[in-house]
Formats: sequence, C-alpha cells, structure tokens
Amino acid sequence: MILVLGGAGYIGSHAVKMLLDAGETVGVVDNLETGHLAAVDTRAKFYNVDLRDLNAFESVFSENEVESIIHFSANSLVGESVSLPIKYFENNVAGAVNVLKLMEKYGVKRIVFSSTAAVYGEPKQVPILEDSETLPTSPYGESKLMMEKMFKWADLAHGIRFVSLRYFNVAGADQSGDIGEAHGVETHLIPLVLQVPLGKRKEITIFGDDYPTKDGTCIRDYIHVTDLIDAHMRALDYLRQGHGSEIFNLGSGDGFSVKEIIDVARKVTGHEIPAVIAARRAGDPSTLIASSEKAERLLGWKPKYNDVETIVKDAWNWHSKHPNGFVGL
Ligand code: UDP
Repeated sequence: MILVLGGAGYIGSHAVKMLLDAGETVGVVDNLETGHLAAVDTRAKFYNVDLRDLNAFESVFSENEVESIIHFSANSLVGESVSLPIKYFENNVAGAVNVLKLMEKYGVKRIVFSSTAAVYGEPKQVPILEDSETLPTSPYGESKLMMEKMFKWADLAHGIRFVSLRYFNVAGADQSGDIGEAHGVETHLIPLVLQVPLGKRKEITIFGDDYPTKDGTCIRDYIHVTDLIDAHMRALDYLRQGHGSEIFNLGSGDGFSVKEIIDVARKVTGHEIPAVIAARRAGDPSTLIASSEKAERLLGWKPKYNDVETIVKDAWNWHSKHPNGFVGL
C-alpha cells in the first residue's frame, strides 16, 4: 500500500485519485483539520488520524503493509506561520518526526514529500536552482527546510530514501471537475480571483503594483496540480528503481504577474472582475520562477498543462460546478 498523508487536502486528494487510476493500492491518513472527507476517492482506505497521535498513527502501519509514503500533511499559510510559529513547528516538524519513527520501526524505505519555494526566501537569482541559498523568511518555509534536513540525516543513519519536492504556485484542478481547491480561509490568488465571477466577492485586491517587474505586480510560477502529481509519481518510481534521495523544484519555468492572472481569469470567465490596488503583502518576494531542469533531467518530467489559461480554466471548471467547495457533498 502507498500511504498518502494529507490525502483529503487539495493536493493530496489529486494524488490519491491519480495513484488509484494508475492501479496502486492507496491508504489515506488525514485529521480533516483542513481537508475534506468528500475529496477522498472512495476506492482508498481512509484513516481519520492525526500524525501527532503516535499510537493511532502506528495502528495504520501495524494493520497494513506500507510500501511507500507520499506526505502532504502540513499547515501551509505563510502569513499565519509568522504569527503562530509553534503551530507550524509542532504540526509540520513534530508530525514528520512521527513519520520517521514509524518508517524506521516498520522498515518503510521510501517517501516523497511536499516542500516549498518558501525555503529560498527572497531569491538572489531567478530562475531558482535547487542549490540556491536557502534563507526562509517565514516559519512555514523554515519548517519545510527542517523537514528536509531531518530526512537527510535519517537517510544516512537508516537508509530512508526521500524525494523532497519544492513546489512553486500550485493551481488548477482535476479535469473531471470533481475535486479542487477548497480552503476554509482562502489566501491564494487564483481561487480568490474566481470568487468574483462566482458572486462571492465584489473585487480582487492586488497586493502592490510598485514591484520592479514589467507591470509592477508580483511574478509567480504557476504549476497545474495534475502536472505536480505526475512529478510525485515519477519521484516514487525513481526511488523504487533504487536511486538515492534528491530535492527537486517543481514549476513551469514561466512567470506571470498578478495583473496577467486577473486578465486570464477575465478571458476564461467572461466577467469583468474589478481589481483594486492595495499595499504590498508582508513577506512577498517580487519574482519567484523555478528552474525545473533537474526534474526534467532525472525524472523525465515536463509540465503538460503549463499555459496559465488551462490552469485557470480547470480551476474555473471546479469552482463553477462547486461554488461551496465540498460543503454538502
Ligand atoms: N495576491 C494578490 N491578491 C490576493 C492574493 C494574492 O495580489 O488577493 C498576490 C500575492 O501578493 C502574490 C501572488 O498574488 O504576489 C500569489 O499569491 P498566492 O498567495 O497565491 O501565492 P504565494 O506566492 O504567496 O505562495
């Protein structure tokens, strides 16, 4: 069985579906703090368990033959992490300690886990390479960097092989429109922009138009969730083939400004989407663009849905079919 930790969340639920479609046996562990049971494919075996509850978590390992793990469970809001750092270290770092304890005890030797572009902080050069300096500017980024370091030492001591995937801006939804992004508190640009044509907000706020970019708004590298999960499956295969631990960036290599994203959303939805300029959001670097050359070279991975129009279209397909997310499903 492949154990998907955080399989009821936005990205995890897409992984569960794609792994099942590829013929894998899948178990899901999720505490449903931010995830949704309705997002979990019914073909998977579901455990409502918190990673910090070591006894309950251990029962998943004693009841199943866990072959590999894909780990998405984390708190992931940069702003929240600055005001609640202990929550982030407890959930993300202490949670990962329990994952490692059980991997060591039950002899599970492979794990693919989510990391983030936030480990780099304010980049000194773009595109960002994996060996660029890591200087996180938030407890969220720091917690992911700590996880990477813990896994490195556990590999040396216990032969636990890992692939850490540093995500850039994940967006879009499965093409079925059955699962997608549904956060209690939404902070991400694309779902927030789409709330305007959904009638849930009257305008979108642009956080700063005085950045040193072509139109003054921040530039980000958007990656379709389907491409992102494809990289996880390739990473798992890579470990199954016996390769050693690695860290990869996952992005499209292309940057789009906040204004460009809003324009694409106007085109896709046919709605005028009024936008207002506000102050910069604390901690936002002006430009984040990945070099994913390493993932292409070692995993043979290349994003297929890397035009932002497809990303916004697929997100819109999900949101317009499910304006209230998973509520009532
Ligand atoms: N952003 C914005 N208005 C919003 C939400 C986000 O202008 O209502 C900007 C944000 O400042 C950043 C970009 O959109 O430059 C992407 O933000 P998001 O939170 O989606 O992802 P992040 O890059 O922070 O991981």
